[in-house]
Amino acid sequence: MTSEFDIVRKYFTRAAKSAVLGVGDDCALLSPDPGMLLAVSTDMLLAGTHFFPDADPAKLGHKALAVNLSDLAAMGAGPRWATLAIALPEADEKWIAAFAQGFFRLAARFGVELVGGDTTRGPLAISVTMMGEVPRGLALKRDAALAGDDIWLSGATGEAALALAHLKGRVKLEGAVREACLARLHTPEPRVALGSQLRGLAHSAIDVSDGLLADLGHVLEASDVGAELVWEKLPRAKAIADCPDKALADDCLLAGGDDYELVFTASTGKRGQIEALRKELGIPLALIGVAVGGDPVVSLRDARGELVSFPRKGFDHFA
Ligand code: ADP
Ligand code: MG
Repeated sequence: MTSEFDIVRKYFTRAAKSAVLGVGDDCALLSPDPGMLLAVSTDMLLAGTHFFPDADPAKLGHKALAVNLSDLAAMGAGPRWATLAIALPEADEKWIAAFAQGFFRLAARFGVELVGGDTTRGPLAISVTMMGEVPRGLALKRDAALAGDDIWLSGATGEAALALAHLKGRVKLEGAVREACLARLHTPEPRVALGSQLRGLAHSAIDVSDGLLADLGHVLEASDVGAELVWEKLPRAKAIADCPDKALADDCLLAGGDDYELVFTASTGKRGQIEALRKELGIPLALIGVAVGGDPVVSLRDARGELVSFPRKGFDHFA
């Protein structure tokens, strides 16, 4: 019989390098660098709500950490430590080993240390708390967008939601396009380097987890500004551009979830630096619109400035 303690020792205990004390005691002991604020974020993934119960465990391990890394990136924080609370229906060691492998592989890429957690028996659920650091005064908060700011988006939105539509049988994706969309859904790439490089460059930022319009809407509400987005400027992945179901493609583009791209605002004087960053990081960065005075709503306009109507807003667990 594998006990809870065996699982923790075998799969979730690694030598702590930067933590003062890691897994094994009642608490981890951490020492943030001088002058830095601790940035902390938690995200929960539930079987049946956030992933299918038979999901690939290695990909799940990746995603559980990636969604938290994305939140830190959106704050301009550099990741350092994580804790993992996990409920498992049974001690399936093959499953746990694969989950740990996916988790630690991504953690290693960003120098993240797992310093603690909790392991219980129950319906499959995973909650990661991510801790990182950001220099005092440089966090990219939601309430700091200014009227007149450019609005930028990394990468492109919609592919993860399109993959989900495919898995639910609403659309049929094939070949390379299908693989690209499924990768976006199952193994998202958090924009960690971009987030920390935006310190002092962007005014505000948010990661797109619940849909472009919904998440940009949070920035607008917190900052009390509106936004005008240019329809043609919204970046479209091949899967979205070629999708035969245009209504579905538009919905995924504007209101799909699970993209983990960053939307940020910056003054127009920073365009040169942001373009340079795009080349340096090799990440697409698109100027998709401007923040404007007035109500905190998004208006979507075509290249001639005419209003484009768009479908419903993003995902809400209680809607
Ligand atoms: P306690 O009962 O004192 O809360 P536990 O027995 O739950 O401690 O955990 C023992 C140690 O193992 C603690 O350091 C805890 O942080 C760590 N731990 C438990 N589960 C996990 C996990 N899934 N990942 C990482 N560390 C874990
Ligand atoms: Mg204890």
